[in-house]
Amino acid sequence: MAKVPPEEEHPVKAFGWAARDQSGHLAPFNFSRRETGDEDVRFKVLYCGICHSDLHSIKNEWGFSFYPLVPGHELVGEVTEVGSKVNKVKVGDKVGVGCMVGACHSCESCKNDLENYCPKMIFTYNSIYHDGTFNYGGYSDTMVANERYIVHFPENMPLDAGSPLLCAGITVYSPLKHFGLAQPGKHIGVVGLGGLGHVAIKFAKAFGAKVTVISTSPSKKDEALEHLGADSFLVSRDPDQIQAAMNTMDGIIDTVSAVHPILPLLGLLKSYGTLVMVGVPDKPLELPVFPLISGRKMVAGSGFGGMKETQEMIDFAAKHGITADIEVVPMDYVNTAMERLAKNDVRYRFVIDIGNTLAATKP
Ligand code: NAP
Ligand code: ZN
Ligand code: ZN
Repeated sequence: MAKVPPEEEHPVKAFGWAARDQSGHLAPFNFSRRETGDEDVRFKVLYCGICHSDLHSIKNEWGFSFYPLVPGHELVGEVTEVGSKVNKVKVGDKVGVGCMVGACHSCESCKNDLENYCPKMIFTYNSIYHDGTFNYGGYSDTMVANERYIVHFPENMPLDAGSPLLCAGITVYSPLKHFGLAQPGKHIGVVGLGGLGHVAIKFAKAFGAKVTVISTSPSKKDEALEHLGADSFLVSRDPDQIQAAMNTMDGIIDTVSAVHPILPLLGLLKSYGTLVMVGVPDKPLELPVFPLISGRKMVAGSGFGGMKETQEMIDFAAKHGITADIEVVPMDYVNTAMERLAKNDVRYRFVIDIGNTLAATKP
């Protein structure tokens, strides 16, 4: 049977930018989205953050990408249509979608509001939906999702600077809470000052913790301390600085996107401390055992968060004035933005102005 072209698969026309192969080069792409089902919310996409996972995905660095691939899992916009059974939001509301759009809703994780750990969880893009069709992400003009996966944006949360919270925000908020680090008096290390790292500082400070940034970029020090609110800054490649801070941290959130040594990080932890990996390098890291057993330390992982907690995180951020520091870019800048992200040249998140600049790129 011949494959149905993406623009004819569903009744609603959609337009976005897709990568066609692992060069990762993004270009205009016509496709389609399903009709608004009873439990669905449709919205016009206005902004979409660029997560490093988008870059890993378009270049197939993790080895499971399918093309054409429309990235984007930090998308926000305005509701244009709701299904008959939807009661969470109404037309005109500001909403967003993060990393996932589906799960089984009957397993233990789903019942505990942890759809993100459901074995059948469906990612926002590069994933197959319940109806068997391919999912396309937020670098596009329109989106439809089941209301369970819709996040309601509070009035005072800006759409552009708030969009990165849908992935970067929840990915650091959730482990801070889960591992008992969201408390006054805790000393938290944040490794990698990028999209995830800079919002990790803001949430950790809002929880009353002390925050130390562990970075490869000495040039980010002043900003981390004076603007982002960190209490101290360590250059990870400087053994003297690391040595001076040994055994001082209750927990560390590691957001690094590339292979890097974790031995120094384990040394920074106090006994019983936890190193939480949230960055996803494309190759395995070396795990030294001695520093683990000598202080009963733990290495853990954490993947974004469930929908209940994602809404809680957005509401918490709105209450505490937490947003991402962003550089808003037009759609046709996206390939340059990806090159700059790969070179660690962004402070601290690119956000695409979909609403004002995507339509003009239609061929
Ligand atoms: P990002 O903005 O590129 O930030 C990553 C930071 O890591 C950089 O700013 C840099 O900080 C540091 N870094 C980069 N290359 C390094 C190297 N070779 N050695 C040491 N440090 C290096 O990326 P992001 O969007 O925050 O995403 C970070 C990672 O988290 C990615 O792998 C992404 O796929 C993953 N992620 C995971 C989840 C999850 O659910 N677990 C969710 C979202 C993203 P310094 O300049 O300060 O060193
Ligand atoms: Zn992400
Ligand atoms: Zn499930």
